[in-house]
Amino acid sequence: MASIFLKIINGEIPAYKVAENENFLAFLDINPLAEGHTLVIPKKEVDYIFDIEDPLYTELFVFAKKVAKGIKAVVPCKKVGVTVIGLEVAHAHIHLIPINTIYDIDFSKTKLKFSPEEFKATAQAIAGHIKF
Ligand code: AMP
Repeated sequence: MASIFLKIINGEIPAYKVAENENFLAFLDINPLAEGHTLVIPKKEVDYIFDIEDPLYTELFVFAKKVAKGIKAVVPCKKVGVTVIGLEVAHAHIHLIPINTIYDIDFSKTKLKFSPEEFKATAQAIAGHIKF
């Protein structure tokens, strides 16, 4: 069965996209730990991130770096934290999360709620600050 992220890639379900190229896509996490919490995925469907072949794996992190700089430019934070979990969605993804303390990257915390307009505004602002 196609993962939910493959449906986003194929445009079958919507997402608040912040960056896209031929091989990768970045979009806002729908249950964010912080404003600007973004997921970066390869378009190729691979479940476990360490199963991605080397060139694509490296490019994924280079793409994520550019997205993180866009997030940092928009969301006030000390740093953009990076984590990979992948226990919920079986399509490799990097979480980019604006953080000020270690507790800001605690996935057991209650997630934030934003309106569609707020998600859209955040995604557009980040997209406007990503330089490729
Ligand atoms: P994990 O696989 O444990 O890294 O978690 C998957 C992440 O994907 C969670 O943070 C979810 O909130 C997020 N997520 C699941 N479905 C969607 C979706 N349709 N759009 C955006 N984010 C999603």
